[in-house]
Amino acid sequence: MRVLLVGGGGREHALALGLAGDPAVEALFAAPGNPGIAAVAQLREVTPTDPAAVAALAVEVAADLVVIGPEAPLVAGVADAVRAKGIAVFGPSAEAARLEGSKTFAKDVMTAAGVPTARAYTCEDAAAVVRALDEFGAPYVVKDDGLAAGKGVVVTDDRAAAERHAAECGRVVIEEYLSGPEVSLFVVTDGEAAVPLLPAQDFKRVGDGDTGPNTGGMGAYAPLPWAPPNLVDDVMRDVVHPTLAELRRRGTPFAGLLYVGLAITPSGPRVIEFNARFGDPETQVVLALLETPLGGLLHAAATGTLGAHPPLRWRDGAAVTVVVAADGYPAGPRTGDVITGADRAGIIHAGTRRDADGTLRSAGGRVLCGTATGPDLAAARDAAYELVRDVELAGAHHRTDIAAAAVDGRITIPG
Ligand code: AMP
Repeated sequence: MRVLLVGGGGREHALALGLAGDPAVEALFAAPGNPGIAAVAQLREVTPTDPAAVAALAVEVAADLVVIGPEAPLVAGVADAVRAKGIAVFGPSAEAARLEGSKTFAKDVMTAAGVPTARAYTCEDAAAVVRALDEFGAPYVVKDDGLAAGKGVVVTDDRAAAERHAAECGRVVIEEYLSGPEVSLFVVTDGEAAVPLLPAQDFKRVGDGDTGPNTGGMGAYAPLPWAPPNLVDDVMRDVVHPTLAELRRRGTPFAGLLYVGLAITPSGPRVIEFNARFGDPETQVVLALLETPLGGLLHAAATGTLGAHPPLRWRDGAAVTVVVAADGYPAGPRTGDVITGADRAGIIHAGTRRDADGTLRSAGGRVLCGTATGPDLAAARDAAYELVRDVELAGAHHRTDIAAAAVDGRITIPG
């Protein structure tokens, strides 16, 4: 199987490692890729959000499967353009990707499908914003309606800040605050059959103790020792299958990766958001534990044969990833700084580039992550932090508490 992977962040580096490790994958191309991916794939230049360009590249490299990592190409219709060439693609159509591309669309689908989620209003003017904030009270949850790379959401007790964010965004979704630990559940689907991966937890806030602004994600771990035993079965029954059925009913089946972001509240799991692709950085830990060959799994989802795929196999133990972010991230990350100590197994590149002389430099807000497995969560956590300790990058910062509460048994479900 010849595979073209679209994207160039940490998620795509993790996907590339998984695909390269699948004996059925005889050639792996990545576009645009990054210096970490370059070690396991041939890199090609492409604008990932240009449907015609990606489709042409897929034809040029004679791809049997195209795997689309980030959301922006999906929302732009890249999967549709590749499929139109008769090439199998892992990633939903632009129509189905609206599940991520529009919070209003996602709420509409959830309501129609009876999926448990926060009550919400879409607000287009200041008066509607005031009404919604009054109804729900603090903490206030205000979300930009469009794609914002995980950074368009403000959760705050500060009423003025909530109103300011709403005014800046224009069209927003304001919703009820959900309390309880968060879970990211990835589901591989061909539109009908659906296979859950291991639940993971990520860390959205920039600072230790969940302080500071939201980011794209500062670390993750899997599995979740504190998760209720029926969690995955319940979410498949109450969330995933009804959502897939509703999208089939609308004539826009969702095939690819359905990311279900949940809060485990006192009344059970509630959907915080859907994404239409693998989450970053949870992918790094989930795929580190997946023993089943990745290429075959994604190909089955892309070709409508997932129902016949054998059950997934997982490695024992746990995985932890810790993101190293650039000075100034998330507000205004500084790029171009020299990185040393990063050319090692377990370092996943996210925002890096390499000079002609081989020097590695920062090229994004989230620069890289240290990803490690271990016989248990504590061991995986120690190993991930050991990787990060050896990386040198001026001004870089990382959270020091990734997976700490889970290791210490401090995560509880309220109620
Ligand atoms: P989203 O982009 O919708 O995932 O939101 C980013 C983060 O904001 C989530 O991971 C949560 O930590 C937080 N968040 C979003 N919606 C809610 C909600 N209704 N209640 C509590 N926290 C939320």
